[in-house]
Amino acid sequence: MKRMKKTIYEYTIEFEDKRDDGNTGFSFPCDENGKIKLDGLSDCAIANYNKCESHPEKFYKYVKTESIAVVYGTCDNCGAEISMNDNGHGEFVCPKCGRRYYTSGTPVNSIYMGK
Ligand SMILES: [Zn+2]
Repeated sequence: MKRMKKTIYEYTIEFEDKRDDGNTGFSFPCDENGKIKLDGLSDCAIANYNKCESHPEKFYKYVKTESIAVVYGTCDNCGAEISMNDNGHGEFVCPKCGRRYYTSGTPVNSIYMGK
């Protein structure tokens, strides 16, 4: 398996409390256009978001962009993309077919049982 690198971007909507020098506030996942991603947010988080949006006098609002370097490879077996950022286990497992690889990208043949 070949190791490759790419940069992905994550976006968050940040609300900073105007009374507190930016030390308190809320942040929510969003897309590159600043549209909130509601998937996976708790009811409590959504309520907080609505509260922030409805009180622009209380919060500074901006979209923060974070770039993340990702190391990934393509599974020799099924072609799925596998994240190879170091997870501390010394091995990576293909999420699609279950094939295992060492961090070098070499398949763990002795343990691989196939599916
Ligand atoms: Zn695979």
